[in-house]
Amino acid sequence: CGIVGYIGDKKATPILIDGLSKLEYRGYDSAGIAVFKDHEIHVEKYKGRLNVLADNVKEKDYNGTIGIGHTRWATHGAPSDRNSHPHTNQSGNIAVIHNGIIENYIKIKEWLIDEKNVCFKSETDTEVIAHLIDYYYEGDLLDAVYKAIEKMEGAYAIAVICKSEPDKIVAVRKDSPLIVGIGRGENFLASDIPAILKHTRDVFLIENDEVVLLTKERVTIFNELRQVQAREVFHVTWDV
Ligand code: GLU
Repeated sequence: CGIVGYIGDKKATPILIDGLSKLEYRGYDSAGIAVFKDHEIHVEKYKGRLNVLADNVKEKDYNGTIGIGHTRWATHGAPSDRNSHPHTNQSGNIAVIHNGIIENYIKIKEWLIDEKNVCFKSETDTEVIAHLIDYYYEGDLLDAVYKAIEKMEGAYAIAVICKSEPDKIVAVRKDSPLIVGIGRGENFLASDIPAILKHTRDVFLIENDEVVLLTKERVTIFNELRQVQAREVFHVTWDV
């Protein structure tokens, strides 16, 4: 169970897969990425080791420079391609990765089916997050994520990208680890420092209940009340 994210000018796919390989020690049963290419979000996700994912994306020219990657340790829904992350909403506008458990996902799922006739593609707790963010989405991803997490109970680190706002990644930490790597004209997101150490030693440690907005140039950390939080840069001196 690991999360990585990249936003910058380099090709995201190799950075995401390499970052996930540094998180393999956390254990996983499937792996996936969502990357931008030609103004669309492309999702690739497979049961099995990381090289299954790597082999499958090798032939495809995903040259997008923004993306999110995930290794899954299944808790809700058996390990399968379909249950692997990222998960998307119906239109494919929103893609989500998640570590942890959404305790009240059945309630949210039933509500979304009643309200919007949402058609679910997986058995995971995670998929409800993508549909819930979509439910609240009115052109501002950060706002939709805030509205969605108000309804979500449990432990989670999530990262979200949105086709309508292709210049940002939004992430949330609640009882699951999350750090940000600070680059020059590029920024990184990960469950743990080893995933980004190849690229930068400057890190923001994200605290519980914080929401992070990443663009190429900037990292903004907000608290539960949407107030901007100041954070010292943590400089990593050790090697993996
Ligand atoms: N609960 C989610 C699932 O089963 C996420 C598991 C994880 O942390 O990798 O898909």
